[in-house]
Amino acid sequence: MMELKIQLIPTGEIILSPGMNGENHCHNCKVVASDGVRAMMESALTARDRVGVQDFVLLENYTSEAAFIENLRKRFKENLIYTYIGSVLVSVNPYKDLEIYTKNHMERYRGVNFYEVSPHIYAVADNSYRSMRTEGKDQCILISGESGAGKTEASKKILQYYAVTCPASEQVQTVKDRLLQSNPVLEAFGNAKTLRNDNSSRFGKYMDIQFDFKGAPVGGHIINYLLEKSRVVHQNHGERNFHIFYQLIEGGEEDLLRHLGLERNPQQYQYLIKGNCPKVSSINDRSDWKVVRKALTVIGFSENEVEELLNIIASVLHLGNVQYGGEDSNACITSDIQIKYLARLLGVNVTALTEALTHKKIIAKGEELMSPLNLEQASSARDALAKAVYGRTFTWLVNKINTSLTYTGDSSKNYSVIGLLDIYGFEVFQHNSFEQFCINYCNEKLQQLFIELTLKSEQDEYEAEGITWEPVQYFNNKIICDLVEEKFKGIISILDEECLRPGDASDLTFLEKLEDTVGGHPHFVTHKLADAKTRKVMGRDEFRLLHYAGEVNYNVNGFLDKNNDLLFRNLKEVMCMSENKILTQCFNREELSDKKRPDTAATQFKASLAKLMEILMSKEPSYVRCIKPNDSKQSGRFDEVLIRHQVKYLGLMENLRVRRAGFAYRRRYEVFLQRYKSLCPGTWPNWDGKLSDGVSTLVKHLGYKPEEYKMGRSKIFIRFPKTLFATEDALET
Ligand code: ATP
Ligand code: MG
Repeated sequence: MMELKIQLIPTGEIILSPGMNGENHCHNCKVVASDGVRAMMESALTARDRVGVQDFVLLENYTSEAAFIENLRKRFKENLIYTYIGSVLVSVNPYKDLEIYTKNHMERYRGVNFYEVSPHIYAVADNSYRSMRTEGKDQCILISGESGAGKTEASKKILQYYAVTCPASEQVQTVKDRLLQSNPVLEAFGNAKTLRNDNSSRFGKYMDIQFDFKGAPVGGHIINYLLEKSRVVHQNHGERNFHIFYQLIEGGEEDLLRHLGLERNPQQYQYLIKGNCPKVSSINDRSDWKVVRKALTVIGFSENEVEELLNIIASVLHLGNVQYGGEDSNACITSDIQIKYLARLLGVNVTALTEALTHKKIIAKGEELMSPLNLEQASSARDALAKAVYGRTFTWLVNKINTSLTYTGDSSKNYSVIGLLDIYGFEVFQHNSFEQFCINYCNEKLQQLFIELTLKSEQDEYEAEGITWEPVQYFNNKIICDLVEEKFKGIISILDEECLRPGDASDLTFLEKLEDTVGGHPHFVTHKLADAKTRKVMGRDEFRLLHYAGEVNYNVNGFLDKNNDLLFRNLKEVMCMSENKILTQCFNREELSDKKRPDTAATQFKASLAKLMEILMSKEPSYVRCIKPNDSKQSGRFDEVLIRHQVKYLGLMENLRVRRAGFAYRRRYEVFLQRYKSLCPGTWPNWDGKLSDGVSTLVKHLGYKPEEYKMGRSKIFIRFPKTLFATEDALET
């Protein structure tokens, strides 16, 4: 007879405790219980039927996608938004505030093992924290999912959890405050309302939280990835520019607006009216302004820096209103007042700025000449300046936050790290451009990392250790990563080549080059190469990539310009002479003397992703997979088609299969023995024989059952977390 321990917790969920193994054999055991207990158990079992299982590993039909989705649905209906696949947390956005993030909840998860409490983002946060503390290994939590799935909210919850539960001193409190306050600032400058999400992050973010030897957060560091700068000058219908512009206009004090020459009406600004969406019901720009203003102070911005920062934000709006007139071939600025304001706010000379916005410096026969721009060129020079000013200011802002988060304690820098990655999910729109290409490439890389770190490495390890193992089939997307990033032959290389080629290079010649070079690749199609059916849904100016997550057609229009990301030299020169100290840090003179062309946007992005992969590879990962339940931002709506698609491309079924077949924990024999030898008289204080024999003696003494573990060449493999948890508990008693 087997002992069964069922615990009902307030959410109506059942906690399966030691005595009932992860494979859900409860129907095999005979339970002797009093009437009261039986009634409780019956209601618990009915509850389980109603709320599904809290770990997909417990699903009887674990290979069935329908069963997987049904389990998600059951839980979602009961407001149980979290479910595990082993240690991976699946989260479905509830689109409503749930009472599950209180201080009491935080306390409930603190220092408690996964299996003892219901699934929660706090459990993931706590687990990473404990692993970092006990094993001394840096951790990272990778949060993925499509736009609106809840990544940013999840990362904020994790940060709040650490801020509340970790030990604190006065100095640590300052760091905690700054870590928390960095969010509203970065969101104001880097998030925007899109059709998919009213608070969509338009940049990728990786944040390290540094902990000292006492486990207190003592510092942090943020790396930002590819801000969607094109939004500064253009927004699609129903979308907005970055929040900060509206916050400033709606919330800025009268004096401030007067000083900046701004009117309290977003409709006055060309850069804010493209999407025809000045107000959003879920957003209060005025109160958000107050939050951001306060956050800037907490982070340590001086009044002067705030003033200079706002001068820049206002100057972008004024820049958008710079109108051109005159002959088509010789653009001149028609709005005198505008340009004067602009020059004052940017801290530059008005004549130099006017000239740079209407002329281009060329060098002919060794002489510098100013050649007039036509109307179209002048408008795009103006937009390029706006994008450059905003983009560089954003990077400056991140650096400034980093300075304020810099660890100032003991100079040995002996800290441990938990990294949080909140980066754009896979994007497929009606019209996909260079930005989607980069974002989806990034997701291919993250999937590659997931494969390397979980699926592949898991299977490789079983093989290396000689553990009997049923291999799980999965699609390895390396082939797609190579198609994009391979040296000389990959899409980025071909794009760069076209960007550098003088003469007739254009977006369309880039497309032709692609056809010539990667035309035969199984994951690449163009209109010309497609079969009749695909051709119907593809434009002649598009290429299609067969991503691991699905097919996406990319329109090549604008690829060369966006990749070049050029700013005319004379505009740079003017900016370098600015009296605004932020701008002088953003545009420095070294850049002007540098003869070498700067790396293109795609190449820079590729390099930053390679670095990110290195950072993540060096840490122990935890995964949070976020799912968006519907496209209408509504609570309670579970759109099955949409969810099935996400389950597919998040690779959740593969993940589950590997998990079911695998072992939850593994430890090298010497580490295992060292840690637990005190629990067995035969191994304490020292074991002189073969390490594997020592471990065998130890686990037999601890009563491990044969199905609970396997002995590999150099490691012990433990199937269920609870086995290891029980051993850990024994250490503590
Ligand atoms: P993007 O890729 O566009 O940045 P995202 O995955 O970061 O999207 P979030 O901004 O985190 O998405 O979430 C979108 C919205 O969904 C939030 O503004 C909030 O209204 C709601 N939401 C997300 N997670 C939760 C949650 N756990 N509880 C309540 N509401 C949530
Ligand atoms: Mg986000």
